[in-house]
Amino acid sequence: MNGPGIELTLAPELRLFAPPSRRVDRVPTATDGASSLGHVVESAGVPLTEVGRLLVDGREVPVSYVPQAGQSVEVFGVDRPQQVPGAPLRFLLDVHLGTLARRLRLLGVDAAYDNEDPGDPALATRSAAENRVLLSRDRGLLRRREIFAGAYVYSDNPDDQLRDVLGRFAPALAPWTRCTACNGPLHEADKDSVGDRLEHGTQRSYDVFAQCSDCERVYWRGAHHSRLERIVDEALAEFGDGATV
Ligand SMILES: [Zn+2]
Repeated sequence: MNGPGIELTLAPELRLFAPPSRRVDRVPTATDGASSLGHVVESAGVPLTEVGRLLVDGREVPVSYVPQAGQSVEVFGVDRPQQVPGAPLRFLLDVHLGTLARRLRLLGVDAAYDNEDPGDPALATRSAAENRVLLSRDRGLLRRREIFAGAYVYSDNPDDQLRDVLGRFAPALAPWTRCTACNGPLHEADKDSVGDRLEHGTQRSYDVFAQCSDCERVYWRGAHHSRLERIVDEALAEFGDGATV
């Protein structure tokens, strides 16, 4: 592109998306005088899902704004907690985020996820059809225009991923109310009603407490319970207050 130059400053938290040469203040950036600021920011490597306010010479502008020669552009990250207007808060996770999906469900957060990769077009279409925030570490996927809303997941560590999403969106937490296997709602159950679905040893040893209304999976306080309780307790301690409904 040869055209009027602008100066582009990315907020520190957005600089990981840009090449090293662009991770400083006031980077001279060529524009063609016709492209939107959204296009310029994406060309710098930053997914628009991660962008909050845009200032041109100190004045806030929309992503559709076309920057002109000599202007100074500041790009900020999203506010946390981030509001997602237009629908109840619910998520859709790409195929690489299975552990995060199960942890969100453990906390009662609506988190759709398929073990089989449906492919980028199908994920984007589902995000739009069901008004789900698409979570991904794939910038190409997050650039798809049709998605309802999206968020880049900054870590590949499931503990950090969970804190990232809970801190960013502040979803209401309702632990032990959602099936970690299929995202369906749980209802209370007891041994008598689900006994034929249990191994004999399980029936003798554990207290059944819930069953999935969708896939009928039975939940009991079993071998992994203390590990799951730790995840729940830590999430409630850090994010249980101030959550939005
Ligand atoms: Zn289920």
